[in-house]
Amino acid sequence: MITCDEFFAEFGDCLENQVSPEIRQELELHLSQCRACQVLCDSSRKTVKIVTESSSFELPQSVSDPIIERVMARLRTDRS
Ligand SMILES: [Zn+2]
Repeated sequence: MITCDEFFAEFGDCLENQVSPEIRQELELHLSQCRACQVLCDSSRKTVKIVTESSSFELPQSVSDPIIERVMARLRTDRS
């Protein structure tokens, strides 16, 4: 079982479909058991969808990183 930090470390790549099936499986397993990551994953996907749909380009790392950082910041805030 991976941790939330590991989940989000791979999550950015997962959104861009750059992870292996094994890692994707790990992420989905964590997601199925972690309510906090479910909520954050859902809102992140929506954010990424808005970003990608408003542009005809692939989501570059420079755009996806701040999104993940914001999600991570919110995760830490919720825990404290
Ligand atoms: Zn989690």
